[in-house]
Amino acid sequence: MRTTIDAQSPRTLLLTPGPLTTSDTTRAALGRDWGSRDDDFVALTARLRSRLSALAGASASHETVLLAGSGTFAVEAALQSLVPRDGRVLLLVNGAYGRRMAEMLSRLGRDHLVREWDEDQPVDPAQVDAMLAADPTIGDVAIVHCETTSGLLNPLEAVASVVRRHRRRLLVDAMSSFGVLPVEAGRLGLAAVMASSNKGLEGVPGIGFVIAESAHLATCAGNATSLSLDLHAQAAGFRANGQWRFTPPVQVAAALDAALDQLDAEGGVAARGLRCARLHAMLVDGMAALGFETYLPQSLQAPIIVTFRDPGPPFDFAALYAALQADGIVLYPGKLTRAPSFRIGCIGAIDETDMRRALDAIARCLRR
Ligand SMILES: *Cc1c(COP(=O)(O)O)cnc(C)c1O
Repeated sequence: MRTTIDAQSPRTLLLTPGPLTTSDTTRAALGRDWGSRDDDFVALTARLRSRLSALAGASASHETVLLAGSGTFAVEAALQSLVPRDGRVLLLVNGAYGRRMAEMLSRLGRDHLVREWDEDQPVDPAQVDAMLAADPTIGDVAIVHCETTSGLLNPLEAVASVVRRHRRRLLVDAMSSFGVLPVEAGRLGLAAVMASSNKGLEGVPGIGFVIAESAHLATCAGNATSLSLDLHAQAAGFRANGQWRFTPPVQVAAALDAALDQLDAEGGVAARGLRCARLHAMLVDGMAALGFETYLPQSLQAPIIVTFRDPGPPFDFAALYAALQADGIVLYPGKLTRAPSFRIGCIGAIDETDMRRALDAIARCLRR
């Protein structure tokens, strides 16, 4: 059976927060079976782990722990594995992904406190400084780098410097930014970076990973309450025999390796960040010409996903969504708690021609 979107002609554009558009080369890498214990798959796993650590500038200090699952699995694994059972976590929240971490810690029964900002306000490092100074029992701090809810970029470097000065650990959900913006786990001394195969890295969905500081990870035996999300045990498995503890998503891993080849060929994270910035400018300008305002000022906006205000009737996002979907272009509804909005992404294996096609399709739909 065919879905409404024909995957090949024209190419499906996923202008969403993920999964994202992938290249033909990446999808072609899915077309082979691998035995999970075969030498070549063990080598592929080792290569992926070292390539991802290297992308975070953390080859010497960190190790990458791969998990089968979406990005949320990696975040939940990091929180339960890297935070001691009697630890206390400060969550810096300005959107849905920060709130999701609070829900995880509640379910895990781990002590935490939440400092929340409005969805159009960045985390304020000075307030983090004051909170850490006031409460020495906070051992870990968690932040979302790009809050994909709005597209806001939090000041990672400044927050990392505050957390380092107080000698606490910083866990960073870099799900939508990793591969597009620098996330320098080594230089910033991050305890952990959580990301996944299918966002800025442009792989297919199915792998979440945590780039964890090795010295801390070594102390984390027994923290996790879940068997399958135990990063310490997963890392020990990789170290022992190079294998995943449970069935690896073998084709997904091969596609991620191919996607990383393409990232290298593009010129690495800096070059990819520039491409996304060009697409972002094109998107914001093109939508402005059609009368749409961004929710955030450009100074707070990451070149990853843009939230546009819903101008209200006669504009009807559901109608736009359906019309574009019929053209093979997928947008995303808003996720803000207050302002009515919708989102258009500028990450994934897309170029200017694709963004032009999307803007033209939106303009056509508005004329109708
Ligand atoms: C996408 C995303 C997640 C969740 O990833 P899933 O793959 O949907 O589980 C978490 N945090 C951020 C910032 C994201 O953008």
